[in-house]
Amino acid sequence: MTMASSSVPFSSRPFTANVINRWGHWAAQLLIGTICAAIMLRIFPIAPDNPMAVGAPLALITLVIVSWLLMRKHDRRLCEHCMTAMPLNASESATRYRRRLATAHLGSNKLLVVLYLAILIGSAFLPGAGGLAIWAIAQATMVYLLLSYTTHRRLQPWCRSCRGRGGEDDRVDSPDPVPHGFQDA
Ligand SMILES: [Zn+2]
Ligand SMILES: [Zn+2]
Repeated sequence: MTMASSSVPFSSRPFTANVINRWGHWAAQLLIGTICAAIMLRIFPIAPDNPMAVGAPLALITLVIVSWLLMRKHDRRLCEHCMTAMPLNASESATRYRRRLATAHLGSNKLLVVLYLAILIGSAFLPGAGGLAIWAIAQATMVYLLLSYTTHRRLQPWCRSCRGRGGEDDRVDSPDPVPHGFQDA
């Protein structure tokens, strides 16, 4: 059971469990790295006769899938590294990062998500250097989304959108699609 496993002291966990937890803890940063690498690979393509022309994209895709899965696993349990990284002035941090917190809630707007994915994928088919620039900028926006996601996970107890304007703490998983709260902060 997850309850039982999360009550095991971190230091007494097997080595592989610690590696998996640490990978999950840093998964967002790894994903940001893969986004940057993918953009560089498109701007500076590897010669087709180089084995890395196939190997590098395959390695990136594998890294993305594994990091994503381990990030989801990490987010469902208690993490020693997250606990030590918890800011002392969390409430102040939540105010400072209110835009990131609000951005994390945009994911609950399905229309917005579909539009965003359409831009991410569709921009790959734009021709010329201008098209490449638009594609690169579109991909780079995922970096901010990942930062928003990790900031939100860290500061969720202080997130206005999660708590709702009536202070309903149980609305964590069904936040407001349009966060108004940060506008008047
Ligand atoms: Zn963590
Ligand atoms: Zn929230």
